[in-house]
Amino acid sequence: MTEVLNQLFIGGAWVDAADGATMPVDDPATGEILCHVADAGPKDARLAEDAAVQAQVDWARTAPRARSEILRRAYELILERTDELAHLMTSEMGKPLAEARGEVAYAAEFFRWFSEEAVRIDGGYGTLPDGRNRMLLSRRPVGPCLLITPWNFPLAMGTRKIGPAIAAGCTMILKPAPQTPLSSLALAGILKEAGLPDGVLNVVTTSRAGEVCEPLLHGGRIRKLSFTGSTGVGRLLLAQSAEAVVRTSMELGGNAPFIVFEDADLDKAVDGAMVAKMRNMGEACTAANRFFVHSSVAEEFGRRLAERMGALVVGPGTRDGVDVGPLIDRVGRAKVEELVADAVERGARVLVGGRTPEGPGCFYPPTVLTDVASDSRLMDTEIFGPVAAILTFDDEDEVIRRANDTPWGLVGYLFTEGLDRALRISERLEVGMVGLNTGLVSNPAAPFGGVKQSGLGREGGRVGIDEFLEYQYVAVPVR
Ligand code: NAP
Repeated sequence: MTEVLNQLFIGGAWVDAADGATMPVDDPATGEILCHVADAGPKDARLAEDAAVQAQVDWARTAPRARSEILRRAYELILERTDELAHLMTSEMGKPLAEARGEVAYAAEFFRWFSEEAVRIDGGYGTLPDGRNRMLLSRRPVGPCLLITPWNFPLAMGTRKIGPAIAAGCTMILKPAPQTPLSSLALAGILKEAGLPDGVLNVVTTSRAGEVCEPLLHGGRIRKLSFTGSTGVGRLLLAQSAEAVVRTSMELGGNAPFIVFEDADLDKAVDGAMVAKMRNMGEACTAANRFFVHSSVAEEFGRRLAERMGALVVGPGTRDGVDVGPLIDRVGRAKVEELVADAVERGARVLVGGRTPEGPGCFYPPTVLTDVASDSRLMDTEIFGPVAAILTFDDEDEVIRRANDTPWGLVGYLFTEGLDRALRISERLEVGMVGLNTGLVSNPAAPFGGVKQSGLGREGGRVGIDEFLEYQYVAVPVR
């Protein structure tokens, strides 16, 4: 593996934190410290802001083709380095290497997609209804952005924001999660190598998120916040953004229903459940959180799912043949343990798993619970772990009401062989995305995002770049 980058990246240079502070990065598979990285404070944030503000004017003027080619080069460099990036990600986050390689490809694809969008930013010219005045319409970058990312997809959550920001001509400060700073720093190195001008991207790793970000949001120079993380933190950042009227995009938490109808193909449903539940060890905003299964097929579905879940190999993500790595940390694992204990207390039966293993690392076994009571805490809490909670239903209206009975609305999964029913239910589900007979919706070419308290705006797809662009209209009277 090449050298691990561990300093702040400000104005195109690698620097220590102004006060020399560092913070540890842990390996969740062993609980041991992997390395230390710079721990930025408000002074470093101000330097990063100065760099982003200074670079903005020239960067906005670069040819779209030049921005496109930087993204394209970075896409190729990421793919060339798939193995080393995957190892880095597995070491700081825990996911098995095969999944980490999958995330590298997914992350790179945002750069390829937005390299293609960079040269398609359009404008307009038109006659206004009075027949005399004309309208010239152009689109321009929103300005310096603050990008805040979570730990669960350390590389892809960064590229999903950096890609459109570069394509649109915005400069930025990226603040990754403190558990997984290494992937973001490696990404900064790759973008520098790909020719990104100094100051366009600045990376500030910190254990003091509030102290570092709040002054940026209040200062009036940062014009856009793009946040991915929990709904609670998103709400706080929305309030902080109100002060200087900072534009926001919010990719927040989920509580996905996974609905299996009596006419579903159960092979497809179980395959879909394995992906929707087990991708990233269940630590995904898109993870199926509540399985609603028609009572006539619930037993069969539960039995088959438990068989598949029980066959998965749990262990350090770097080991060959491992399917399920550790959870991110002990806090995350304790939450999963509490949710399972609560469900069992309220009458749930454990079909497989449910017991924390002895030894180091934050491991938790794939678990299937059935007969879960509707008032169990995991019904209205993101489990963020490898636990499938099964409830039954008998009636279409009833299952839609229960599926929608949550403040979140990111994604829903639906298994039925009936086209009519598939369309009818998709329209009635209060979610931004639907997986129809599939457990995977994420794709850089599709608009990703939620409704209700799952967020504001979309990332990826044709509309992903819109979040980083403003309209300007010029009125032109013609005599
Ligand atoms: P989190 O606790 O909300 O943290 C997300 C990011 O926000 C981290 O970088 C965190 O840094 C930072 N942060 C926390 N408080 C802050 C503050 N006061 N000011 C500025 N930044 C602050 O979420 P997480 O535990 O990392 O990630 C899991 C959550 O993300 C889940 O709810 C999941 O559903 C959601 N998620 C959503 C999507 C989506 O696309 N909708 C995708 C992935 C994940 P610190 O840790 O230092 O506080």
